[in-house]
Amino acid sequence: MKYRQLGKTGLQVSEIGFGGEWLERHDEEEAVELIRYAGTKGINIIDCWMPDPKSRDCIGKGIAGNRGRWFVQGHVGSTYQNGQYMRTRDMKHVVPAFEDILKRMDTDYMDLGMIHYVDSQEDWDVCMNTEFIQYVHKLHDEGTIRHIGLSTHNPKIALQAVETGFVEMLLFSINPAFDMRPATENLDDMFEGYDAAFSGIDPERARLYQQCEEKNIGMTVMKGYFGGRLFDEKTSPFGTAFTPVQCIHYALTRPGVSSILVGYDTKEQIDQAVAYETASDDEKDYASILASAPMHSYSGQCTYCGHCKPCPAEIDIAMVNKFYDLAVQQEKVPESVKAHYEALGITASSCIECRSCESRCPFGVEIAERMKKTAELFGK
Ligand code: SF4
Ligand code: SF4
Repeated sequence: MKYRQLGKTGLQVSEIGFGGEWLERHDEEEAVELIRYAGTKGINIIDCWMPDPKSRDCIGKGIAGNRGRWFVQGHVGSTYQNGQYMRTRDMKHVVPAFEDILKRMDTDYMDLGMIHYVDSQEDWDVCMNTEFIQYVHKLHDEGTIRHIGLSTHNPKIALQAVETGFVEMLLFSINPAFDMRPATENLDDMFEGYDAAFSGIDPERARLYQQCEEKNIGMTVMKGYFGGRLFDEKTSPFGTAFTPVQCIHYALTRPGVSSILVGYDTKEQIDQAVAYETASDDEKDYASILASAPMHSYSGQCTYCGHCKPCPAEIDIAMVNKFYDLAVQQEKVPESVKAHYEALGITASSCIECRSCESRCPFGVEIAERMKKTAELFGK
């Protein structure tokens, strides 16, 4: 298992993580066994947005004896009322629900205290201007929450969270289909009535990734498989099927992303996700699927897939393109991006314009031209 730093939290999290949502489908013995098995595979981050007592108990038992090696995302604002999940900002429910996570997990801290599921502007305004946010800060100040995070599906809200300066990481929904769609306050509407060809990555999402990278905000990913819809050509919005490894690779190659949290029903599914760590470049390759999909248009846009390798000048074309895209969105090239670009060693100015890479790019990127522009932009 490889580990990545989760932005400014400094935590070293496993690339493949554990989304706890499906634990409620299992009896306690099975659920605890799944968590322990994931731990043996090197997985060390788990999300618990679920407010139901059983899921929380299972996670507590699954990590018991190993609390120090697990990073837990515990959510503030996810409550259990009348036997059902209820997102709320009402403190008379928020406080006991958060205290319940700690009690059921037999711990006195959450590594990541998540402001739970803010998708609308109205809810953001409520969260940021009421006792709710004071409570989050209080938990952080007293060390009950080690780091403050926020979960959202909406890039507009995520961008505002990045701007606060106190949100250190995000739990954000990322997959190749979502990335094409503009922000919405209701996830269920995202693909409603949509039958036109996809038209490249949504600019707001691209800006979010750039901002996360620039401000060192780590991201953990939810909905990386689009609820399994991407595995079937009939339900995939692209009209073509992806494998779990391809979905994982897509998420993990977005700027700012540290870990993808996958839901598991079986040990085989854990093995399938962890297989990413030893997968070949061909197995990870989502690019050829996207490029041949009946419904898409990534034409001319670099997806950082690395399909264009090898380069006789040994340029890491995907990384150069990534830094170019990050830099070009700003009026002035950010120092952090410049430093990362220079750390590549071999930069765009080494391009000999052989164009051998261009015939291998599934998206028709004019690579030699981009190398020229990149060298001009960064001055090397
Ligand atoms: S055109 Fe430039 S970037 Fe592409 S393979 Fe040739 S030297 Fe490498
Ligand atoms: S230039 Fe094309 S092949 Fe190379 S990383 Fe970008 S999209 Fe992939």
